Amino acid sequence: MLPEGMHFLRVEESIWPASANVLLIRDHDGAILVDVGCGSEKAYSRVKDFLSAHGLRMADVHTVILTHAHPDHMGAMKHLLQEISPRVFLHPLEIPLAAEPSRLNDTFDVGLPYRYGIIPTPPEEMDILEYFSDSCAMASARATDEIRTDVELVLGEFAFQVIETPGHAQGLVSLFNRENGILFTADAVGDIVTWYSPSSGGFTRFLEGLDRLSRLPATLLLPSHGSPSKVPSREIERTRTRVLRREERVIKELVSGPIPFPDLVTRVFKHPLMAVFPGTQILQCHLDKLEMEGRVICRGEDEGWIVELVGK
Ligand SMILES: [Zn+2]
Ligand SMILES: [Zn+2]
Repeated sequence: MLPEGMHFLRVEESIWPASANVLLIRDHDGAILVDVGCGSEKAYSRVKDFLSAHGLRMADVHTVILTHAHPDHMGAMKHLLQEISPRVFLHPLEIPLAAEPSRLNDTFDVGLPYRYGIIPTPPEEMDILEYFSDSCAMASARATDEIRTDVELVLGEFAFQVIETPGHAQGLVSLFNRENGILFTADAVGDIVTWYSPSSGGFTRFLEGLDRLSRLPATLLLPSHGSPSKVPSREIERTRTRVLRREERVIKELVSGPIPFPDLVTRVFKHPLMAVFPGTQILQCHLDKLEMEGRVICRGEDEGWIVELVGK
């Protein structure tokens, strides 16, 4: 299914945070990894086993491409950097985030549920890194190179066009190898990763990213979570349908009258944990877009965070 010299590690985990799939490319100097997975021992051994299955060792890896600075994609850098010192490529917007893991609190908009009073403000500021620490700890990594969007990223014998797909992460990139029709979408497409936050680009930019992907003549889609697909357009449309349905649901809830944000989020996201994350962040993104389009009005704290449809 994949051309010679390219291998794909499909990680069979479906509960978030799930370790990301890994793409391996061989070249004359050794190996290149696109994403490295979670920071758990188990996830790291899995990557090492994957390398050995292809006759490689970690010491052969000379380059790591990180699609974005989320723990499920780069947590294993903690272990990897103890063994090797590869070149590390990241989109310029992700470079400071990878260097300073605590920035994850900003890009995940961890403060939003407190702002809306959806959960009581804790005496000490919550740290998202603690949440990840057991199952998929975040690492820090210094980039040696920027992923550029104006030139092709050449990995071994494969040239990849870099497509910016923000919304889920500011500098999230998808990679397209035109010669073989292979599209590595990272977290831009897929089920458990269909979330976006205001600080990571929001909903409008998420949709723009999907538009960019759907224009590519791809014949094989490799996601970071889930299985490869020979019908890339179907997977991209599935993600688009899913997020547009969310927008419809938001509007439907508002048709009967104004609703405070905290109530709206629990109506759109029934599971209480989902409502806190990523529900609040997702809803904020939808409301930002609808407000910009003049379709809703969002009132401030003094007016009880009321959201209403324009003209209702
Ligand atoms: Zn991600
Ligand atoms: Zn992911």
